[in-house]
Amino acid sequence: MKTIIWYQNDLRVDDHRPLEEALRHEDTIEGHYFIREDELSENRFGHTPLGPRRLQFLNDSLEDLGGSLATLGIPLFVHVGHPLDVVDPNDRLLFQRSIGFDERLREREIMTVWRGSSQAFDGFTLYPRAEIPFEKMPFLFTEFRKAVESDARPEKRFDRPREGEAYPIDFPVAYERVEQGKHTAFPFKGGEQAGWERLTAYLAGPIRTYKETRNGFGVDDSSKLSAYLANGSLSPRRVLHELEQHERSHGANESTYWLYFELLWRDFFQWVALEQGKRLFRAQGIRSKRKTWRVDPDVIARWQAGETGVDFVDAFMRELNATGWMSNRGRQIVASYFAKELGQDWRIGASYFESTLIDYDVASNYGNWAYQAGVGNDSRDRHFNVSRQQDTYDPTGAFRNMWL
Ligand code: FAD
Repeated sequence: MKTIIWYQNDLRVDDHRPLEEALRHEDTIEGHYFIREDELSENRFGHTPLGPRRLQFLNDSLEDLGGSLATLGIPLFVHVGHPLDVVDPNDRLLFQRSIGFDERLREREIMTVWRGSSQAFDGFTLYPRAEIPFEKMPFLFTEFRKAVESDARPEKRFDRPREGEAYPIDFPVAYERVEQGKHTAFPFKGGEQAGWERLTAYLAGPIRTYKETRNGFGVDDSSKLSAYLANGSLSPRRVLHELEQHERSHGANESTYWLYFELLWRDFFQWVALEQGKRLFRAQGIRSKRKTWRVDPDVIARWQAGETGVDFVDAFMRELNATGWMSNRGRQIVASYFAKELGQDWRIGASYFESTLIDYDVASNYGNWAYQAGVGNDSRDRHFNVSRQQDTYDPTGAFRNMWL
């Protein structure tokens, strides 16, 4: 019998429960990663979920993981398709549980026919489900945050420092590798090693002023950890652990607290997505709010291309198209503009982000989009005034000049 580690959004060896468990047995161990076929074809909005920049980041991340696993004598195989087409359901199966609806559907399908032993672990969130002190998730983040801050404890971490050089793998999808332009705010590559380097560099200095800079557009204005957290090259528990080490050595301040606060936002959207399932993708969102959305192909195409004529919006969209990255402030502004000014179906904007953002994560993306569109976890239905945002966050026009 073999032990199969089914990798999904957990592309690391550090703090990885399935790997720990696999190594406790004498079996032959294999790692497998499956790209879903629907991620490679156009969805109903005409976007291909795994766009070229996401594929590149995924490929780099898997090569890095392949290198680490090779030092443990574990081969890693990457496929397009369904796990049951490849793995023997009599083997031992270990995996980290997913949050997304489609991903969980696939897990359930497999578990109904699996005959060998299997074990699923939590690991994508900072806190495990058992530590979330709600039967039903609160509608507002603040209620969630306060309860979790006072009552919840992260699980123990399992250390396995990453070792080994990136390893060429047989990546089953052809795509065009692209250079990250010189203006990119995300000049990093994929993989656990790169994630560690970014985490270490960020905690060595820029973190001290995060609270003041986090709305900025530059490399060190925010942590740039999202892409590593999204595909699991870093675990949120590891990030918190390193942050706490930093606080012990250099002292806590408002900025160190604020990074933790943002990680709680991430957890909040994960648990909302898990609870809401398919409802997260409805036009009326999780609130069943009656809103009428338009679908104007020309308007949407101009927004996507960064050609709306509204400079601040266009600069952000061009940044996204050129780099696969956009700051949180930019994302809020262009999403609010798309849904509230242009009145377009917010799910089309979310789907465009899904195909282009290197750090795409189903819960964070659809949760934030619904929030901006006024059909998510925001009771105030806020509206961003683009020209006021521009005066506050790009008063000299430096950001616009860079992209327009
Ligand atoms: P930092 O400011 O350094 O924050 C630290 C970490 O906290 C981030 O890495 C991220 O994991 C988490 N975080 C911060 N803000 C949020 C937030 N609002 N929601 C959830 N988690 C947060 N984030 C994604 O990871 N993937 C997405 O697909 C995604 N889509 C978004 C779409 C829209 C419309 C909006 C408004 C936000 C979206 N976000 C998404 C959230 C946020 O913009 C990014 O997490 C953040 O910009 C990443 O940069 P950073 O790592 O430097 O963040």
